[in-house]
Amino acid sequence: MPRPTKCRRVQYSPDYLVFKPAGVPARRLKQIDLTLDEFESIRLADLEGLYHEEAARKMNVSRQTFGNILSSAHNKIAEMLVHGKALTVQGGTISLKNERLFKCNDCGAEWSKSFGTGRPGYCQSCNSENICRIK
Ligand SMILES: [Zn+2]
Repeated sequence: MPRPTKCRRVQYSPDYLVFKPAGVPARRLKQIDLTLDEFESIRLADLEGLYHEEAARKMNVSRQTFGNILSSAHNKIAEMLVHGKALTVQGGTISLKNERLFKCNDCGAEWSKSFGTGRPGYCQSCNSENICRIK
């Protein structure tokens, strides 16, 4: 029996969950799923430039496991770019640490949204699009 996967800690939720080549209808594209832990590994290693050891600690996994997650993520992104596939960010064995907090610059309303639900397009109180993420 395979060992159950340990929960990977993810501290950031992507604002955009679907990526696809421009000008091609989604139904004609093959789809790849990038899991949230893979997304997080890219963010920590490639964007923030952390050493694998440090990134692994942040995600609560071994350095070896982190390397596996990251190389799987790189693979999927390469396939998306080279073969022109659609990429969605979803799933994974993860525990989410925070909710995201948004604020409206016009009316000052604040609200939170759980991870993995995409970025809101407008304020929930006044419908202004002048909003920003504050956490
Ligand atoms: Zn507002």
